[in-house]
Amino acid sequence: MAQLPRNSSSRLDPRGPLVFSTHALGRAPGSEHTETRVAPAPAELRVGLVGVPDGAELELTVRLDAVAEGVLVTATARAPVTGECARCLEPLAQQVEVRFQELFEYSPGVGSDAADGYSLDGDLLDIEPALRDALVLALPLAPLCRDDCPGLCVDCGVQLAKAGPEHSHGPAIDPRWAGLQKLQQFEIPQFETPTDLPDRSGQDMNR
Ligand SMILES: [Zn+2]
Ligand SMILES: [Zn+2]
Repeated sequence: MAQLPRNSSSRLDPRGPLVFSTHALGRAPGSEHTETRVAPAPAELRVGLVGVPDGAELELTVRLDAVAEGVLVTATARAPVTGECARCLEPLAQQVEVRFQELFEYSPGVGSDAADGYSLDGDLLDIEPALRDALVLALPLAPLCRDDCPGLCVDCGVQLAKAGPEHSHGPAIDPRWAGLQKLQQFEIPQFETPTDLPDRSGQDMNR
Protein backbone atom coordinates (compact mmCIF):
# COMPACT_ATOMS: atom_id res chain seq x y z
CA MET A 1 0.00 0.00 0.00
CA ALA A 2 1.39 3.37 -1.00
CA GLN A 3 2.10 5.69 1.86
CA LEU A 4 0.08 8.87 1.78
CA PRO A 5 2.11 12.03 2.19
CA ARG A 6 1.32 13.94 5.37
CA ASN A 7 0.40 17.38 4.18
CA SER A 8 -2.29 19.94 4.87
CA SER A 9 -4.77 18.15 2.63
CA SER A 10 -4.49 14.83 4.46
CA ARG A 11 -7.57 13.93 6.47
CA LEU A 12 -7.30 12.73 10.01
CA ASP A 13 -8.86 9.43 10.94
CA PRO A 14 -11.67 10.26 13.39
CA ARG A 15 -11.07 6.88 15.05
CA GLY A 16 -7.39 7.66 15.66
CA PRO A 17 -6.58 7.06 19.34
CA LEU A 18 -5.20 10.59 19.75
CA VAL A 19 -7.63 12.36 17.43
CA PHE A 20 -10.33 14.48 19.08
CA SER A 21 -13.46 15.97 17.59
CA THR A 22 -14.36 19.58 18.25
CA HIS A 23 -17.76 19.17 16.63
CA ALA A 24 -19.64 19.65 19.93
CA LEU A 25 -18.17 23.15 20.28
CA GLY A 26 -19.83 24.41 17.11
CA ARG A 27 -16.99 26.94 16.65
CA ALA A 28 -18.75 29.14 19.21
CA PRO A 29 -16.14 31.02 21.28
CA GLY A 30 -16.67 30.27 24.96
CA SER A 31 -18.01 26.77 24.47
CA GLU A 32 -16.07 23.99 26.13
CA HIS A 33 -15.92 20.23 26.06
CA THR A 34 -13.85 17.89 28.22
CA GLU A 35 -13.11 14.30 27.34
CA THR A 36 -11.27 11.58 29.22
CA ARG A 37 -9.85 8.65 27.38
CA VAL A 38 -7.39 5.79 27.70
CA ALA A 39 -5.27 5.57 24.56
CA PRO A 40 -2.33 3.40 23.51
CA ALA A 41 1.03 5.16 23.64
CA PRO A 42 2.55 5.97 20.25
CA ALA A 43 5.80 4.21 19.36
CA GLU A 44 9.32 5.44 20.13
CA LEU A 45 8.54 7.54 23.17
CA ARG A 46 12.01 6.97 24.57
CA VAL A 47 14.99 8.98 25.77
CA GLY A 48 18.17 7.23 26.84
CA LEU A 49 17.47 4.77 29.65
CA VAL A 50 13.71 5.28 29.93
CA GLY A 51 10.60 5.45 27.82
CA VAL A 52 6.89 4.89 27.62
CA PRO A 53 6.35 1.34 26.30
CA ASP A 54 4.83 1.17 22.85
CA GLY A 55 1.07 0.70 23.24
CA ALA A 56 1.06 1.27 27.01
CA GLU A 57 -2.09 2.84 28.45
CA LEU A 58 -2.09 6.64 28.47
CA GLU A 59 -4.70 8.20 30.72
CA LEU A 60 -5.80 11.39 29.00
CA THR A 61 -7.97 14.28 30.09
CA VAL A 62 -8.42 16.72 27.23
CA ARG A 63 -10.28 19.99 27.57
CA LEU A 64 -11.27 21.75 24.34
CA ASP A 65 -12.08 25.46 24.53
CA ALA A 66 -13.38 27.27 21.48
CA VAL A 67 -11.70 30.65 21.06
CA ALA A 68 -11.84 33.17 18.22
CA GLU A 69 -8.89 31.73 16.27
CA GLY A 70 -9.49 28.07 16.89
CA VAL A 71 -9.61 25.53 19.69
CA LEU A 72 -7.41 25.72 22.75
CA VAL A 73 -6.42 22.26 23.94
CA THR A 74 -5.49 21.77 27.59
CA ALA A 75 -4.48 18.20 28.25
CA THR A 76 -3.08 16.08 31.03
CA ALA A 77 -1.61 12.67 30.39
CA ARG A 78 -0.45 9.97 32.78
CA ALA A 79 1.86 7.38 31.33
CA PRO A 80 3.83 4.42 32.65
CA VAL A 81 7.59 4.72 32.26
CA THR A 82 9.96 1.77 32.18
CA GLY A 83 13.71 1.65 31.92
CA GLU A 84 16.87 1.13 33.93
CA CYS A 85 18.18 2.81 37.04
CA ALA A 86 21.04 5.12 36.05
CA ARG A 87 23.09 3.99 39.08
CA CYS A 88 22.47 0.25 39.53
CA LEU A 89 20.92 -0.70 36.14
CA GLU A 90 17.98 -2.46 37.83
CA PRO A 91 14.75 -2.36 35.83
CA LEU A 92 12.42 0.32 37.05
CA ALA A 93 8.78 1.25 36.54
CA GLN A 94 7.41 4.68 37.28
CA GLN A 95 4.61 7.00 36.26
CA VAL A 96 4.98 10.34 34.58
CA GLU A 97 2.29 12.99 34.38
CA VAL A 98 2.39 15.91 31.96
CA ARG A 99 0.14 18.86 31.26
CA PHE A 100 0.30 20.87 28.07
CA GLN A 101 -1.69 23.52 26.26
CA GLU A 102 -1.74 24.20 22.52
CA LEU A 103 -3.86 26.29 20.20
CA PHE A 104 -5.19 24.52 17.12
CA GLU A 105 -6.10 27.18 14.57
CA TYR A 106 -9.12 26.96 12.28
CA SER A 107 -7.14 28.12 9.26
CA PRO A 108 -3.38 28.47 9.39
CA GLY A 109 -1.80 31.43 7.62
CA VAL A 110 -1.56 31.20 3.83
CA GLY A 111 1.49 29.20 2.77
CA SER A 112 2.52 28.42 6.34
CA ASP A 113 1.22 24.83 6.05
CA ALA A 114 0.81 24.96 9.82
CA ALA A 115 4.57 24.63 10.17
CA ASP A 116 4.67 27.05 13.08
CA GLY A 117 1.75 25.60 14.97
CA TYR A 118 -1.14 23.24 14.95
CA SER A 119 -4.32 23.49 12.98
CA LEU A 120 -7.67 21.76 12.86
CA ASP A 121 -8.51 19.33 10.11
CA GLY A 122 -12.17 20.08 9.66
CA ASP A 123 -13.61 19.43 13.13
CA LEU A 124 -10.74 17.12 14.09
CA LEU A 125 -7.42 17.66 15.80
CA ASP A 126 -4.55 15.29 16.52
CA ILE A 127 -2.78 15.80 19.84
CA GLU A 128 -0.03 13.25 19.16
CA PRO A 129 2.81 15.68 18.25
CA ALA A 130 2.08 17.92 21.24
CA LEU A 131 1.66 14.93 23.57
CA ARG A 132 4.90 13.39 22.32
CA ASP A 133 6.86 16.62 22.92
CA ALA A 134 5.45 16.98 26.43
CA LEU A 135 6.14 13.37 27.41
CA VAL A 136 9.67 13.28 26.02
CA LEU A 137 10.54 16.44 27.95
CA ALA A 138 9.14 14.91 31.13
CA LEU A 139 11.18 11.70 30.95
CA PRO A 140 13.95 11.66 33.57
CA LEU A 141 17.46 11.83 32.08
CA ALA A 142 18.98 9.97 35.03
CA PRO A 143 16.17 7.80 36.41
CA LEU A 144 16.73 6.16 39.79
CA CYS A 145 15.09 3.00 41.16
CA ARG A 146 14.87 4.91 44.46
CA ASP A 147 16.15 8.30 45.54
CA ASP A 148 18.94 6.86 47.69
CA CYS A 149 20.04 4.07 45.33
CA PRO A 150 23.65 3.32 46.37
CA GLY A 151 24.57 2.13 42.87
CA LEU A 152 27.28 -0.38 42.05
CA CYS A 153 30.51 -1.21 43.89
CA VAL A 154 33.32 0.50 42.00
CA ASP A 155 35.63 -2.44 42.70
CA CYS A 156 33.52 -5.48 41.81
CA GLY A 157 30.34 -4.10 40.20
CA VAL A 158 27.96 -5.77 42.66
CA GLN A 159 24.72 -3.92 43.43
CA LEU A 160 25.40 -2.28 46.78
CA ALA A 161 21.70 -2.35 47.71
CA LYS A 162 21.82 -6.16 47.57
CA ALA A 163 25.36 -6.60 48.91
CA GLY A 164 24.52 -4.73 52.10
CA PRO A 165 26.30 -2.02 54.07
CA GLU A 166 29.15 -4.38 55.14
CA HIS A 167 30.29 -4.92 51.57
CA SER A 168 33.96 -3.94 51.43
CA HIS A 169 37.24 -4.79 49.76
CA GLY A 170 39.46 -3.90 52.71
CA PRO A 171 41.47 -0.70 52.95
CA ALA A 172 40.74 1.67 50.13
CA ILE A 173 44.47 2.36 49.61
CA ASP A 174 46.32 0.06 47.25
CA PRO A 175 48.99 -1.69 49.42
CA ARG A 176 51.70 -0.68 46.93
CA TRP A 177 50.97 2.97 47.73
CA ALA A 178 50.55 2.58 51.50
CA GLY A 179 54.24 3.31 52.15
CA LEU A 180 54.07 6.47 50.11
CA GLN A 181 51.11 7.66 52.10
CA LYS A 182 53.07 7.27 55.38
CA LEU A 183 55.90 9.27 53.84
CA GLN A 184 53.47 11.99 52.86
CA GLN A 185 52.24 12.28 56.43
CA PHE A 186 55.78 13.08 57.57
CA GLU A 187 56.47 15.53 54.79
CA ILE A 188 53.49 17.76 55.43
CA PRO A 189 54.13 19.96 58.47
CA GLN A 190 51.21 20.14 60.87
CA PHE A 191 50.32 23.68 61.83
CA GLU A 192 48.37 24.33 64.94
CA THR A 193 45.01 25.78 64.15
CA PRO A 194 44.48 29.06 66.00
CA THR A 195 41.32 27.95 67.73
CA ASP A 196 42.16 29.94 70.83
CA LEU A 197 42.27 33.24 69.00
CA PRO A 198 39.28 35.25 70.06
CA ASP A 199 37.11 36.47 67.24
CA ARG A 200 34.22 38.20 68.82
CA SER A 201 33.36 40.47 65.95
CA GLY A 202 29.74 40.02 65.15
CA GLN A 203 29.31 37.27 67.70
CA ASP A 204 26.32 38.93 69.27
CA MET A 205 24.83 39.96 65.96
CA ASN A 206 23.88 36.40 65.07
CA ARG A 207 21.81 36.00 68.14
ZN1 LIG B 1 19.20 1.78 41.42
ZN1 LIG C 1 32.62 -4.83 45.69
